[in-house]
Amino acid sequence: APDTLLSIQIFPFEATLKLLVTRDVTQLEKVSVVHRDFVANVSHELRTPLTVVGGFLETLLDLEQPNRDIEHRYMRMMQEQTRRMQRLVDDLLTLSRLESHSGEHREEDVNLSLLLQMLAQEAEGLSGGRHVVVLENHGPAWLRGNRDELHSALGNLVSNAVRYTPEGGCITLRWQKQGDGVCFSVCDTGIGIAPEHLDRLTERFYRVDRSRSRDTGGTGLGLAIVKHALLRHQAQLDIRSISGEGSTFSATFPPERIVNR
Ligand code: ADP
Repeated sequence: APDTLLSIQIFPFEATLKLLVTRDVTQLEKVSVVHRDFVANVSHELRTPLTVVGGFLETLLDLEQPNRDIEHRYMRMMQEQTRRMQRLVDDLLTLSRLESHSGEHREEDVNLSLLLQMLAQEAEGLSGGRHVVVLENHGPAWLRGNRDELHSALGNLVSNAVRYTPEGGCITLRWQKQGDGVCFSVCDTGIGIAPEHLDRLTERFYRVDRSRSRDTGGTGLGLAIVKHALLRHQAQLDIRSISGEGSTFSATFPPERIVNR
């Protein structure tokens, strides 16, 4: 009888312990897979430009006679690859700062209407006159938040709109009241996104078309940065898109973030 009693007492305890340990290990395994994939992705993203730069350097060193034209051409291509690595490292640092909630996160009243004007100018600069940029500004609006993070989040939406919209397309930036909150959106008439990709777009390094994104200078981290910067402001990201017709990315800020001036 004492044995039975003992086993009755121990059994549920053991089972719970086993369950807890299993759950913990599964969680750890998941984290470790995500971590491993991330390291593999970063290494892969860096290896390509490094190999290209290495190859150009070797060719330059092997030149039997100095040739200003070839040297110049190769140096330009190395510069392009170096910039690509720089962008990747900058984005990695931004993302890691946002994810770990480290670094300074000073909040102030940000003039959304002015930010929108700056972003429209940036869109025009990036587009180089190849798109029509429309700004729908509904008067003054102020948000409580971190200016740099907001600029970087909304700026990434704008640069994506330019990147994924063919020449002649239209990019519209607007803010409007939504309930008691404010919604900022970037709408493009670009290539659009098929529905099966929408859920995964904000994952780090997730791309619908790898070569297109790289060719146009994308690091694959833009929307992950957008997501984390918006999370810090309790804002919600909505993506609507029709393949071949265009996309609308909207960030909706809750009433607590609106400043009445
Ligand atoms: P990338 O640097 O590759 O642009 P992002 O994280 O910014 O990385 O975007 C992830 C992917 O989402 C892109 O590779 C692209 O396939 C898709 N995407 C993002 N914005 C748009 C857009 N406005 N139109 C069409 N596809 C887009």
